[in-house]
Amino acid sequence: AEDAEYLVSLVRSIPGFPKEGIIFRDFMPVLADARGLDVLMRALEAALPLPADEFDSIAGLESRGFLFGPALAHHLGKGFIAIRKAGKLPPETIGESYELEYGTATVEIETAAVAPGERVLIVDDLIATGGTAKAGADLIEKAGGTVAGFSFVMGLDGLDGLDRLGDVPVSTLISMP
Ligand code: IMP
Repeated sequence: AEDAEYLVSLVRSIPGFPKEGIIFRDFMPVLADARGLDVLMRALEAALPLPADEFDSIAGLESRGFLFGPALAHHLGKGFIAIRKAGKLPPETIGESYELEYGTATVEIETAAVAPGERVLIVDDLIATGGTAKAGADLIEKAGGTVAGFSFVMGLDGLDGLDRLGDVPVSTLISMP
């Protein structure tokens, strides 16, 4: 409980970023703090949404999923897959587009990034509407893998993001209004 409070105390809230009416939740101060980083990594492992022997690898969503996904994967003895924003990877890639509030976004992975039937845990810093995580999951499945679960550091209340992820185990360390 003390550890959870410590994590929450390090999350920075920035009203009006990236636009008016939004409170941006920033976990960078958690990473910057030696105890915060240690607590975060141990909490992610303790809260894994399914046992570590029931998935094969971890996929992180660009960019903040890249900041702790590889460390968690390494600690669990697994590899890491990068789900990138469109246009960053050389061919061959596969992509998945999804709706934003205004317009669309696309995420991509290398075609060979996922082995057939590979069971993948998807990680990111925050789930809001769930659109990004859902697109990442669709991409893993397009590539021939299976989504074993999702692990988020933060979740935003009242957006029903988790409902979009289907019947897959999910863990969220911190709930934010
Ligand atoms: P969603 O697709 O609406 O669930 O938004 C989640 C994606 O946007 C994740 O990749 C997050 O990193 C990013 N995001 C949205 N809101 C925030 C925020 O308040 N803080 C940090 N990242 C955010």
